[in-house]
Amino acid sequence: MSTTRTVIFDAPGGPEVMKIVERPVGDPGPGEVRIRHHACGLNYIDIYQRAGVYPLALPHALGMEGAGVVEAVGAEVTHLAPGDRVAYAAAPPGAYCDLRVMNATQVCRLPESIDFRTGAAMMLQGLTVEYLFNRTVPLKAGDTVLFHAAAGGVGLIACQWARALGIRLIGTAGSDEKCALAREYGASEVINYEKEDFVTRVREMTDGRGVDVVMDSIGKATFEGSLDCLRPVGMMISYGNASGKVPPFDLGILGAKGCLQLTRPTIFMHIAQREKCQSMASHLFDMVESGKIKIHIGQTFALENVVQAHRAMEARSTTGSSVLTL
Ligand code: NDP
Repeated sequence: MSTTRTVIFDAPGGPEVMKIVERPVGDPGPGEVRIRHHACGLNYIDIYQRAGVYPLALPHALGMEGAGVVEAVGAEVTHLAPGDRVAYAAAPPGAYCDLRVMNATQVCRLPESIDFRTGAAMMLQGLTVEYLFNRTVPLKAGDTVLFHAAAGGVGLIACQWARALGIRLIGTAGSDEKCALAREYGASEVINYEKEDFVTRVREMTDGRGVDVVMDSIGKATFEGSLDCLRPVGMMISYGNASGKVPPFDLGILGAKGCLQLTRPTIFMHIAQREKCQSMASHLFDMVESGKIKIHIGQTFALENVVQAHRAMEARSTTGSSVLTL
């Protein structure tokens, strides 16, 4: 039987709770595949899970995305075959490893033109942008979107997707260097929210009107300010909590601030069904192969350095996507 290195943790905590163990890997059962990873993606959700913000039954493995080659397929798997190059974003976590058996539903064939590191870097963040811009609220050319953390993994893909759709994306980021990067990748305007009050700047940039949509993954620190950036009946898409969860609040503030709309989506609902997941992935692959989206891999870490990788993400010192190599 084959074995694999796998990153697990026994108790919620800081990056140091992660450790690498050696485990056996068996054959895939019905509906499953065995994948030999070439790279796996790092995402902010991995930090929520490790820190206990999104609790998991412990001990648990980590990692929600990877890319590699199919070694074996179980019964009932019809869309994949041994030897296929693949990439995926999928729950439950367990992608920080060399080899794994997993459910095949979200595993997609990776086009030849996309290398494994890029495949591992782009699935979770790219599919998130796919659903944010195409399946969450009707968006059209000329609409204005405020997008926080615009120089991050999701952020740089969002800047480019907005540019491709003709959407005016106002991006925020935590340093001048990150703001410059977001501009380079397609943000129409940028705000360094460590230096400037983003609500005041957004009001100035929109001549007092406010934006049509806010895409907020920061949570606690920005939630209320984000609502203040919206035009009447504008849409707040709260899809993450990098600064902490949004505390409970009185729904009445949505009325008082202009009959605002609010949604809290997750990627996992969108990719739960195989056909929809594959169609979203095809859309994403087309955007990358056509050159409209370039995946910016800002950091690459060896699997042994996973603790260092999490420290870098939590310290806000990363830009674009981050990958673990094997
Ligand atoms: P990023 O690369 O964007 O990293 C998170 C960024 O958030 C940081 O780089 C930092 O950028 C910003 N940030 C602001 N405040 C804080 C803080 N207090 N602590 C840490 N970071 C902070 O991560 P991802 O691209 O992986 O994910 C982006 C967000 O999208 C995450 O919140 C994630 O959970 C969410 N997400 C949600 C999904 C969903 O379906 N609901 C799916 C995928 C991602 P800066 O320094 O510029 O402020």
